[in-house]
Amino acid sequence: MSESNTQVTFESMDLSREIMLAIKDMGFTTPSTVQARTIPLMMNGVDINAIAPTGTGKTCAFGIPMLEYVQLNDPSVQEVVLAPTRELALQIGDELTKLAKYIKGCRIAVLYGGQPIPKQLSALKRKPQIIVATPGRLLDHMNRGNIHLNAVHTMVLDEADEMLNMGFVKDVTRIIEATPKERQLVLFSATMHQDVLTIAWKYQNDPVEITVEATKEDRPQIAQYVIATEQSKKIDNLLYLLDADVYQRIMIFCNTKFMTDRLTSKLKKEGYSAECLHGDIRQSQRNVVMSDFRKGKFSILVATDVAARGIDVDDVEAVINFDLPEENEYYLHRIGRTGRAHKHGVSFSLVTFRESVRMDEILKYMIAQPTPLHFEDDVLRCEDGTPFFDHI
Ligand code: ADP
Ligand code: MG
Repeated sequence: MSESNTQVTFESMDLSREIMLAIKDMGFTTPSTVQARTIPLMMNGVDINAIAPTGTGKTCAFGIPMLEYVQLNDPSVQEVVLAPTRELALQIGDELTKLAKYIKGCRIAVLYGGQPIPKQLSALKRKPQIIVATPGRLLDHMNRGNIHLNAVHTMVLDEADEMLNMGFVKDVTRIIEATPKERQLVLFSATMHQDVLTIAWKYQNDPVEITVEATKEDRPQIAQYVIATEQSKKIDNLLYLLDADVYQRIMIFCNTKFMTDRLTSKLKKEGYSAECLHGDIRQSQRNVVMSDFRKGKFSILVATDVAARGIDVDDVEAVINFDLPEENEYYLHRIGRTGRAHKHGVSFSLVTFRESVRMDEILKYMIAQPTPLHFEDDVLRCEDGTPFFDHI
């Protein structure tokens, strides 16, 4: 049974004035469950192995203790966060920067592959106390002698399960081994994972395990709908959903770069403000697209799964699966882009007869089951035949 966090407040955590001010600016009033359980332990230097679902506030769960520790007068790298993707590293960097707003002299560097080394070198010359990085690029800098981890106090692996899934086991262990034995090692995952347990067993000192069930308050509030359709009708179905004019910020997922490009140009041609994100797009361009989407400069982001994991964009109101994901677990990652931070979200999956087998497989692992919808006389309807958007 996960303990209730109703008594735990940010005030009771003995946080600095600077952090309290930043939390207030960010609009947080109470800590999430994973924050209530992690922050006090981590501030006491304890090693933690935390498993918590997406959208439960893990970034601040480690970010707050990291910033409470940082020694501003010490120019060495003191704290490192490893993240599986560039997008996630950038997002963690942004969240830490917001938290550090009132901590004068706190420097955070974000390092990831695809960005020019000289640019990162100049960030390193400013002597960041905190580094957020993808494993490959951090290792690259270590090998070039640009970064030394011999004074690291805290090391965090975010999305450890995903990172190790992606084949970063060797890189990650080499990085951990470059840090002092007595450093604090904190692992965050969305799911239990054998490689994570191995790392925990090998490198953690008396770790505390924290498992946070998605509570009613924490669990993303996502209404899921499955729309039975045919491949040739998917674009029309999609335009119908967009034209309902109910959702302002939408993510559409496709399985291939080709489809992502095609759909985006189709939408643009039809007059929608849409941009796309996939692995063949230059990193600098991907950053621009993500940041424009966050700022609301356009309303529809068409993406492959590159963008699915870990990315937090506030206020995505609807996620549309144009294609069902090829990997079952991506379904949850995708729909997890909406309904974050106690907001309500909605997801639609356009499912052909052929895809329905995979849909069933995906749903086998899920507690929450979607509601079926269908088109009849060109109107999206609930099972009882009433028009869907009449209910919204
Ligand atoms: P996770 O890593 O668990 O998927 P994130 O750290 O990305 O979750 O947080 C999800 C969203 O919740 C972010 O927009 C974050 O700013 C917001 N958030 C984090 N902590 C709180 C809180 N205590 N109260 C309200 N919103 C929060
Ligand atoms: Mg996260």
